[in-house]
Amino acid sequence: MYYGGIEAGGTKMVCAVADEELTIVEQLAIPTTTPEETIAQIIAFFDRYSLKAMGVGSFGPIGIDPAKENYGHILATPKEGWANVDFLGNLKQHYSVPFAWTTDVNAAAYGELKLGAAQGKKSCVYLTVGTGIGAGVVLDGKIFQGNAHPEMGHIRVKRHASDDYEGTCPYHGDCLEGLAAGPSLEHRTGTKGQELNQNHLIWDIQAYYIAQALVNYTLTLAPEKIILGGGVMNQDHLLQKVRRQFIDQMAGYMETPEIDDYIVRWALPNQSGIIGSLLLGKEAAR
Ligand code: ADP
Ligand code: ZN
Repeated sequence: MYYGGIEAGGTKMVCAVADEELTIVEQLAIPTTTPEETIAQIIAFFDRYSLKAMGVGSFGPIGIDPAKENYGHILATPKEGWANVDFLGNLKQHYSVPFAWTTDVNAAAYGELKLGAAQGKKSCVYLTVGTGIGAGVVLDGKIFQGNAHPEMGHIRVKRHASDDYEGTCPYHGDCLEGLAAGPSLEHRTGTKGQELNQNHLIWDIQAYYIAQALVNYTLTLAPEKIILGGGVMNQDHLLQKVRRQFIDQMAGYMETPEIDDYIVRWALPNQSGIIGSLLLGKEAAR
């Protein structure tokens, strides 16, 4: 018997099957096309295994309240064809096993807490800076959610004095995601983030916004660790700038762990989400 995990993204669906020790025996990335086609491919993958339980960490927003009709659905996503799709319901029709269901970033935060950069801690914030910006929170060992799951990538930030960019968020324009996700780097400069020179002023602007988010998360949640993932954070110099900006902006107000130990890169590169999903699946089996 195996555990199934899905890290459901707007670009690809990472599907994995793991054994009792959570060692991954097979992993496959399926491109996210139409819901019908994509779900059919997911099912074709998992049908080859006998599953005990499944964990799904999905792009969102998603319905997370089991008492509501939209539980398990993808909600107001700009991803064409996916708004209001009953993703979990479709999977449940095929597999009558226990399911865990949360956001992709919550799953990643949980994976990093249990098996990655925040091992041994009870709380962490995981922030991904990639095509979008999203964050997941674990507090007291549990994924934090309330009326809905938090959407911490869409917070408001104070503008950098040399930045008049309108922002890319289809809902808010210049929220954090609008000003600092990967596509904003390219729209501002005409060059993809991975090809931009380290000395470009854009990195100071970028660090200014990401640090503001981390200051806000620290002030509101006081996590033991903040873990940064996503393509844009592959820039090591950016991590250093974010740490310096964080110290500047916090201005000594709140005590945090030593900065190099507090704001860190992911320990499970590109795997936090799928490992967290598998782990949640395993826990749902109990
Ligand atoms: P996704 O968020 O879609 O899962 P990624 O985390 O790889 O995927 O993020 C993709 C975004 O990150 C793109 O906008 C890309 O230009 C940017 N990006 C990828 N690698 C780097 C890098 N090394 N430096 C800066 N930006 C990068
Ligand atoms: Zn937004």
